[in-house]
Amino acid sequence: MAYVISDKCISCGSCQGECPVGAISAGDDKYVIDANSCIDCGTCADTCPVGAISQG
Ligand code: SF4
Ligand code: SF4
Repeated sequence: MAYVISDKCISCGSCQGECPVGAISAGDDKYVIDANSCIDCGTCADTCPVGAISQG
């Protein structure tokens, strides 16, 4: 199950550079995770300052 970014995202961008497989990109209103690329490592969830990332 891939990780997902909720509406709590403030688009700080911190998670993007932490993803080992480049699955995170900036979307229209928030950052988004490509479910097909995510390997469920959890690094992004630990990085997010507002707790917007969780396992979906
Ligand atoms: Fe990237 Fe890991 Fe977050 Fe998936 S859980 S988006 S692989 S940092
Ligand atoms: Fe959004 Fe959290 Fe990623 Fe920052 S670290 S862009 S708040 S999901």
